[in-house]
Amino acid sequence: MSAYHLIIDGKAVGTEECFPVLNPATEQVFAQCPKATEEHLDQAVAAARRAFPSWSLTADSERSRLIHAVGDALEAHSDELAKLLTLEQGKPMGGFAGLGAGFEMGGVVAWCHATADLELPVEVIQDNDEARIEVHRKPLGVVGSITPWNFPLLIAIWHIIPALRSGNTVILKPSEYTPLTTLRAAQIINEILPPGVFNVIAGDGSLGAAMSTHPDINKIVFTGSTPTGKKIMASAAGNLKRLTLELGGNDAAIVLPDTDVQAAAPKIFATAMINNGQTCAALKRLYVHEDIYEDMCQALAAIANSVTTGDGSGDVDFGPIQNKAQYDKVCALAAEAKASGARFLSGGEPTEGVGYFFPVTIVADIADDTRLVREEPFGPILPVLKFSDVEDALRRANDSANGLGGSVWSSDVERATALASRLECGTAWVNNHAMIQPDAPFGGVKESGIGVEFGRYGLEEYTSIQTLQISKA
Ligand code: NAD
Repeated sequence: MSAYHLIIDGKAVGTEECFPVLNPATEQVFAQCPKATEEHLDQAVAAARRAFPSWSLTADSERSRLIHAVGDALEAHSDELAKLLTLEQGKPMGGFAGLGAGFEMGGVVAWCHATADLELPVEVIQDNDEARIEVHRKPLGVVGSITPWNFPLLIAIWHIIPALRSGNTVILKPSEYTPLTTLRAAQIINEILPPGVFNVIAGDGSLGAAMSTHPDINKIVFTGSTPTGKKIMASAAGNLKRLTLELGGNDAAIVLPDTDVQAAAPKIFATAMINNGQTCAALKRLYVHEDIYEDMCQALAAIANSVTTGDGSGDVDFGPIQNKAQYDKVCALAAEAKASGARFLSGGEPTEGVGYFFPVTIVADIADDTRLVREEPFGPILPVLKFSDVEDALRRANDSANGLGGSVWSSDVERATALASRLECGTAWVNNHAMIQPDAPFGGVKESGIGVEFGRYGLEEYTSIQTLQISKA
C-alpha cells in the first residue's frame, strides 16, 4: 500500500502494484509509489476527454481565476512540498545562493500567477467593406505531459499551467525517480479544478511511450533527454500529435579578456552548479581567454573548495546527484578527463560512503574532444577551456549537436551582445547564464528541442489557429 495515489477524474486511485522511491542521500527506499497500468492511462485519457468540452468553453477569466487559486494553494503547501522534494530529489531546502527546494517552490508559485495573467486575444487581420478576417487561438484537446527528475514540480507546472490556461485538459506522468511531489501537488490542485481536467499517473518510460502513441492524446509536452525526445517524436506521428520538446543542453560560455574576473566568477560558478549541475540550461563548457585564464581558474577553484556537499536535509550547499545512473556517468566523465591528463582544481573523486555524492569539480587544461566537453555531464563538474582567438572560441562553442543556451561575458556589453547573437542556441545571455522568467520564451535549437515555453509564445504552443473569414459583400 502507498500513502500516495494516482489522480484520475478528480479521484484518488490506488493501484495493485507499487514501485519504490529512493532518497539519493541515503540510498534508502522511503516510500512506495502507485504504478499505473495502461488501463489507468486509458481511464485518465477518457476522463480528460470528457472534461474537455466544458473546460475549453469555461470563460477565460474563470480559468485565469482558478489558476491563480492553484498558485495560492501550492504556496500554502510550499514547506510540505519542498521537504518532499528534498527527500526524493536530494536538493537542500536553501542551498548554494538559495537555489534549492525553496527556490523551486518559489518558481512554481511565480509561474502559476504569471501564466494565469497571460492572454491570447483575437487578432484582426482585415476589417473592410469586403470582409473581416480574425485569427482565433483554440485549445488542442488532451495534452500529455512527461517530466524529468531535476526540477520535478517546477517543470510539471511549466507544462500543465499553460496547457490548462489555454483550455486543454491534461494527463501528466512524472519521472519514476521523483514522482511523489507531483502526486501530492496534483491532489492539492484537484481540490480546485473540476474533475478530469488534470490527471496524474505514475510509471516508468514504458508508460511515457504508451502516452506518446495514444490515439486520443493530441499533444505531448516533454522535458528530458534528447534520445527520449527523438523516440517520442517518432511515436507521436500516428495521429500527428503536436509536440513541445525541451531536451538536453551543453551550453557554452565565452569569457572575453576584458571581463572583471572577481565579479564574474561567482555568477559563472552559480549558473554552472545550479541544482548541482543538474539543470538543462546550466553553463556546461567555459571558454576563457588566455589573458585571464589562470585568474578565472583560481577564482572558480576558490569558490568550489569552499562549498559543502551532503544530505539535503542538513545545512549544505549541494545535495547528492539524483540517481545512480547519472552519478555513474559523472564519475566516468571525471575519470576519463583525469586519465587524459586534465588538471583538477577541486573535487574529482566520488565521496566515499552511502549516497550519490560527488564534490563540486572544476577541470582545467582539458582537450576539446574529451567526453566531459563533448557530452552533457548533468552533474557538478565544469570543464574550463582556453582560447586566444575569439572566432575560434565561437566556432568551438557552436561545435555541438545541442543548442539550448549560451553566453558571452565582457565589460563591453555591445561587443558581447554582437558575439552572443552568433551563438547557435535558443537563449543567449550577456554577463549571465541560465536566467529564465515567465514572460520570456525559452527553448532549444538543433537537438535541444522543438518549440518554446513561457510567455505568449509558450502559450500559443497549446493552441491551433482557426481563421474566421466573414464575407461582407
Ligand atoms: P529521460 O529522457 O530519461 O526521462 C524523462 C522522462 O521521460 C521520464 O518521465 C521518463 O520516464 C520518460 N521516458 C523515458 N523513456 C520514454 C519513452 N520511450 N517514451 C516516453 N517517455 C519516456 O530524461 P531524464 O534523465 O529524466 O532528464 C535528464 C535530461 O533532461 C537531461 O538531458 C537534461 O538536459 C534534460 N532536461 C532538459 C530540460 C529543458 O528544458 N530543455 C529541462 C530539464 C532536463
